[in-house]
Amino acid sequence: MCREFVNPLQADFVDLTTVDPICDAFYKSVRLEAQSTGMGSNLLYSNQQCYRTCKELFRKDIYRILMRLGYRDRHLLLTASHRYYRIAFASGKETIEIVNSFPIVDTHVHLWHPEHLRYPWLDEVPAIRKPHLLDDFRAACGDASVESFVFVECDVHPDERVREAEWVASLAKQEPRIKGIVASAPLEDGEGARAVLEDLAGNPLVKGIRRLIQAESLDFCLQPGFIRGVQLLNEYGLSFDICIVDSQLANVIEFVKQCPNNQFMLDHIGKPNIKNDVFQPWAREIEMLSQFPNVFCKVSGVATSADFERWKPADLKPYINHVIGCFGFDRVAYGGDWPVSTQAIGYSQWVETLVWAVDGCSKDEMKKLFRENAMRFYRLGE
Ligand SMILES: [Zn+2]
Repeated sequence: MCREFVNPLQADFVDLTTVDPICDAFYKSVRLEAQSTGMGSNLLYSNQQCYRTCKELFRKDIYRILMRLGYRDRHLLLTASHRYYRIAFASGKETIEIVNSFPIVDTHVHLWHPEHLRYPWLDEVPAIRKPHLLDDFRAACGDASVESFVFVECDVHPDERVREAEWVASLAKQEPRIKGIVASAPLEDGEGARAVLEDLAGNPLVKGIRRLIQAESLDFCLQPGFIRGVQLLNEYGLSFDICIVDSQLANVIEFVKQCPNNQFMLDHIGKPNIKNDVFQPWAREIEMLSQFPNVFCKVSGVATSADFERWKPADLKPYINHVIGCFGFDRVAYGGDWPVSTQAIGYSQWVETLVWAVDGCSKDEMKKLFRENAMRFYRLGE
């Protein structure tokens, strides 16, 4: 169901921290923080541990508190995925909704089947080594309403790149929400990559290519063969996903400079070292990269760049805000990075964290971030 935004200024906000002892106890029990916005009250969860408790308690406890406060005649609307932090009411016939709850488009979902295809890297990550298939993704989305998504290659064995894309295309027959595939191809082979690209481009779901750079040497992306391979993508109408770590950004800027006709998507905001609180030179280099109009930025994989166990939403916010500040709301796109992300964050928890981080943006900006830019960049539905 697609609900509409409201202007928070028109909403009837109640600061729950000031009104009821039950509420106070509730707060203490889940260690929430309240933050005044000038428009009402935002309830922010303070850390990951409290999140699950918060999620379980929230709906019934808040409802009970509101009943006690005499809001019986009002209809409390708590949207599926953003219910924890801003509370609004429908009073009378006027419907007031909290923040947003339109269906989202996820630019970055992985599915893997180690019994069917080979993924050498999974041997190192036993926590997520089991098959991750459509039913698992559906279950993981929980409250988040995902209208469609893009499958992103899973670093499958090089011999199985085309098979991986074919397998996902076969899954799309059962799951129409798969609207695009970012496949893997040996672009470092330059002209030699044509045979694989021909095969992949014959699959209408393949919208882009990712050749992982993150585990390669610093100058991998500057090899003439690789640059040639990336330039070839223009002949096939395919975009390129840049997946790197922050130390590779400087060379990526030089690489992008040589490919002015390509459409680029930077994955995972360039993987800044949030875990060790390293903001520069990542921030300066992101700003330089954002000056190329043919580069978009996927807002994904952020919690997994922080400490898996100890991150707090406030640790992620400066990095999120920086990429949005640099690329603007026209060139950023939401990505869930499921199931890699599950090492640090739940699916709807990431949606909520991102909504929180961009609080104050307009409805149109939110829609660009969570769906429209994804559809435009990956040409979904074409
Ligand atoms: Zn990923």
